[in-house]
Amino acid sequence: MTLSQKISSKLARKIKYLFRELCYGLGFYKNFYRSARGSRILLYHGICEHDHLKFNTLFLTRKTFESHLKFYKKHFNVLSLDEYYQQKFSCNRFNVCLTFDDGFANNHKYVLPLLEQYEIPATFFITAIQVAGYDILWNDFLSIAGKYGPAKFNFKDEAYVKDRHNKYLSTDNGISLAEKLRFTGFDKKAEMIKVLHPLVPFKTKKQDEDYWLQMTTRQIRELSASPFATIGAHGYYHNDLAKINIREAAEELALTKQYLENIIERPVSSFAFPYGSYTTDVVEVAKNCGYEQLLATAFINKKDNDDITMRERLTVNPFISVSNQMYATVTGSYE
Ligand SMILES: [Zn+2]
Repeated sequence: MTLSQKISSKLARKIKYLFRELCYGLGFYKNFYRSARGSRILLYHGICEHDHLKFNTLFLTRKTFESHLKFYKKHFNVLSLDEYYQQKFSCNRFNVCLTFDDGFANNHKYVLPLLEQYEIPATFFITAIQVAGYDILWNDFLSIAGKYGPAKFNFKDEAYVKDRHNKYLSTDNGISLAEKLRFTGFDKKAEMIKVLHPLVPFKTKKQDEDYWLQMTTRQIRELSASPFATIGAHGYYHNDLAKINIREAAEELALTKQYLENIIERPVSSFAFPYGSYTTDVVEVAKNCGYEQLLATAFINKKDNDDITMRERLTVNPFISVSNQMYATVTGSYE
């Protein structure tokens, strides 16, 4: 696609979204939602009070999330993940199931009270990064370093410079550090944190905690005690299981299950692949560990549609309005 084609398709989408927004405001979509049928699992990440795009493109404000919940109550049927797998769908409404990845403390702080207030269930996919001695995921650390860290730094005999999107790129080949680290185990990521941590004074900025702080063991336990929350696993270190060696991936899958089950004292049977990334081997290993619900984003193989353990999810888009998000939730596409 040429640059002018890209610009015109972006503009066309913007006009479509504005038009839809206007129609929704005029009440033209009442019948659309009344007659919508089907089901969708939604993927949320962090929730914060303000400035939701400050460090990444996955957060929503609490106010927007609450608007989603109000919309679900009014127009949709919300199921738990277990009910979704058991296909306990409403025939008279569109069905949605809410999931949260990454185990942010903000899920405990903002999401849990809202789920209880609106009596809506959700599943939270959490890593074991706490037990590894960290209160932040490596990729969130890198996002924050991109904002507050030095313009240039050296790591493993390679120089990295920030681009205009605050991403560190190698001066040798232009590949981002985040992308390179996706292909490594946690040891190299831990080394990166060790090198950059003294240069990134983000922990002094208390107001930023909502964007990165992981849940404590106590918070995971409190979340699990709610009738509206289920705990699932999301890898030990938040490594990309499709890119690291399969023996390490198998170990991570097993250890995360054990870690979470010890905390919440009940079985953990669902797993969400970090970055939605998996291979056929990773799926097999996950099943051998005892996971019965495997959550991807988009499937990589056609045959995954026939696998009763696997489901796709739609990632919530923080750049669009509530009505456009709800339209995409029903259609399954942001086009
Ligand atoms: Zn994740």
